[in-house]
Order: sequence, then C-alpha cells, then structure tokens
Amino acid sequence: MRIFDPHIHMTSRTTDDYRAMYDAGVRALVEPAFWLGQPRTSPGSFTDYFDALLGWEPYRAAQFGIRHHCTVGLNPKEANDPRCTPVLDLLPRYLAKDGVVAVGEIGYDTMTDAEEHAFATQLALAVEFGLPALVHTPHRDKAGGTARSLAVVGESGIDPGYVVLDHLNEVTVGEVAGSGCWMGFSIYPDTKMTPDRMVAVLKRYGTERILVNSAADWGHSDPLLTRATADAMLAAGFDHDEVDRVMWRNPLIFYGQSGRLDLDGSNDVQAAGLYAGNSIARGGS
Ligand SMILES: [Zn+2]
Repeated sequence: MRIFDPHIHMTSRTTDDYRAMYDAGVRALVEPAFWLGQPRTSPGSFTDYFDALLGWEPYRAAQFGIRHHCTVGLNPKEANDPRCTPVLDLLPRYLAKDGVVAVGEIGYDTMTDAEEHAFATQLALAVEFGLPALVHTPHRDKAGGTARSLAVVGESGIDPGYVVLDHLNEVTVGEVAGSGCWMGFSIYPDTKMTPDRMVAVLKRYGTERILVNSAADWGHSDPLLTRATADAMLAAGFDHDEVDRVMWRNPLIFYGQSGRLDLDGSNDVQAAGLYAGNSIARGGS
C-alpha cells in the first residue's frame, strides 16, 4: 500500500515518526505552513520557517525514503497580528519556488476582517501563481465558517478544482461536495474525524475529490491514522484500487496541478549537497 499524506506538520514530529510512517506505506507528504504555537514577532520568523520547509525538512524526510513538499502562506490565526501581516508581501518570492505545491494554510480562525483580507489576498496569489489553495476551516462554528469560506473562494475567481477545504466533518461535507472544491478530512485520535466515521463519509460521497490526512502536529495526533483509515476502508469492503485512489492518486491529482510534485527525488540531490555532513541517520545534530 502506498500513502501520500496531503497535510502533516513534520516539523513537530520525530525521526521515529518518519520511520513508522515509511513502514506503514507513506512515501510522500505535503507539509503546510501553519501557526507554531508560540506567536511569531516578525516576518523574518516566517521566512526562516519557510526556508526550513523548503530545505531542511525535505532533506530529513528523504533520509527515511519519504518525498516532502510544502505549502506556504500566512495562517488565519496570525493574520490578526500586525507584526505578522507584512509577510504577505514576501510570499510571492516563496510561491515561485519548486518545492511549494500550494498556498496555505489560509482561511478563517475566528472570522475577523483581518483574516478575510489575508484569505482573499492569498487566494489572489494562488490564481496569479497558478497554484492550488489549502483552506483551513475554523474549529468553532464550523458550518458558518465553511459557508463563509466558500463565499470568499467564489468571489476570488479561483477554479474550485484548485481549492481544498480541510478539516471537514459530516456537517460540512455536503456543502463543499456541491461546490466543486476538494474535500479534506483530518483523522485524529479523539477529535475531528475517526477512521470509521471517514469510511462512512466515503460510502456516502464516493472517493472523488476527497483527501484524507493525519494533520499531525505537536498536539495529540497520530501520523499513522492515514494507514488506519486505509485499513478501515478495506475492512468495510472498499477494494485496493479505491484505497489507492483516496490515499495516493487523489493527493497526486490535487497537488499535481501545481506542476511541481517531485516524486522521483530529483530535488534531493540539491538538498543532499546543502546538508552534506549533517546527516540525521548518523545523529547529525
Ligand atoms: Zn494543519
């Protein structure tokens, strides 16, 4: 079984996770830029982070046989902080880079005007750069936040096929299914979706335009829940081709729209040169 995790924050995970993910079948992933917990105090903090997502983390992933790509953007939470918003002016420089396969995570957190401005500005950048957009739906008022997110997406003029609305659940999936946007689901140990609830959604809505991720980060999360969902699909009667579509081909189709997926590792040669002598496998830190 081959798995492409379309949303996972490896910066906050260990080498043990990389090993276990490889053993479970994960061969590729996308790491979206997000809030780091500790508030950032300047745009330079973003650029150092983006550079790590483009350089160090892909190199780390490659040590364990996993292809790493990223998305960059100003996350919804920090869109409210005037110390952070100047990063919007720096994004075009990053959106031109090869390892960036989408704009994100963008969207709403508490649905402020500042969040809406950053959201719309970054959707316009996605259109300008011909990139997909990864939209985070808020954890509170999920239904209202999803409806407003779809409205902003509609106003932006971006092709809905270039947009995924993530962290959906049974309440919000129907509206997104009808919009033409992709439907993203984060499988969590005890919040958001579980493997069995995900299987029920797949039975009802089919396997097209659906992305399943672990969204694992520093919080209570599990980078192997993509595999657990694949196993739950098989146990529920989906065949291997349907599992492959959801777990591998769908992320490939969605992020492949960037024209920048590198699954044969030609970017790794460059990374290996950059970090020569600093191997994780040898305990290089
Ligand atoms: Zn995330």
